[in-house]
Amino acid sequence: MITRFAPSPTGPLHLGHAYSALLAHDMARAAGGSFLLRIEDIDSTRARPEWEAQIYDDLSWLGLTWDAPPIRQTDRLPAYRDALQSLWARGLLYPCACTRRDITAAASAPQEGGAPVYGPDGLVYPGTCRPDAPIGAPLPDGAALRLNMGAALANLASDGFSFVETGQGGTENIPFTAQDLQTQIGDIVLSRRDFPGSYHLSVVLDDAAQGITHVIRGKDLFEATKIHVILQRLLDLPTPVYHHHRLIRDEHGKRLAKRDDARAIAKYRADGATPEDIRRRVGL
Ligand code: GLU
Repeated sequence: MITRFAPSPTGPLHLGHAYSALLAHDMARAAGGSFLLRIEDIDSTRARPEWEAQIYDDLSWLGLTWDAPPIRQTDRLPAYRDALQSLWARGLLYPCACTRRDITAAASAPQEGGAPVYGPDGLVYPGTCRPDAPIGAPLPDGAALRLNMGAALANLASDGFSFVETGQGGTENIPFTAQDLQTQIGDIVLSRRDFPGSYHLSVVLDDAAQGITHVIRGKDLFEATKIHVILQRLLDLPTPVYHHHRLIRDEHGKRLAKRDDARAIAKYRADGATPEDIRRRVGL
């Protein structure tokens, strides 16, 4: 078993992160496996070296050890480019110049029929920039690129997909269809204008590169897993087992957010809490 914790260094780790990291660590240790770390720093406007340093410090304080040097997504650009190049060469990507506002306007237009659909990647793209035929030109630089979901599904020639989930109390197979992908997910962004990659592309490439066998993360990413499975199929990568755990909430039942400094591990530390207190507080 190889598990990982993959925080974004965009703020302090809070109790929700502590739970995720402790669970992934404990599951690997209990199975005699490995626990790895990955710094998801593709958001250059928000990622800061001081937050990365704080992550190592908080995790060490919690008593966690990792079995290889952490990888950082900003060091992985060549791997992301190769994958984009391969999808582009197969005619599965297209450049998109739409702004968020364009997408909202197009998706809400009366001729679209029905209400706009929100999927795990936000508003399902109405297809404004989608070409009718693959584009023959070389992979463009500095353009946002979308996956042509219809073309991707035709390429995979399969109606049904699934992944194994162990986070809901037992081992379950989670099936989903090509139709679900078309209507609830659509043409997702795989490369951003300012970064040759996106969360979905990097996460599947990095999990495969780190040999992750069990992805342990919050329930909020459960639906996004369908995107990850489709990308694994397109890029010929293995699909790990997924364990989506419950989310840690505050006393009002609200999910903790990055800016929830009050529940930052650093704050608990400063107030004299012990790692055992943190474990207890998250129900471990
Ligand atoms: N970097 C993501 C986060 O901090 C986690 C992604 C994942 O575990 O797949 O929310």
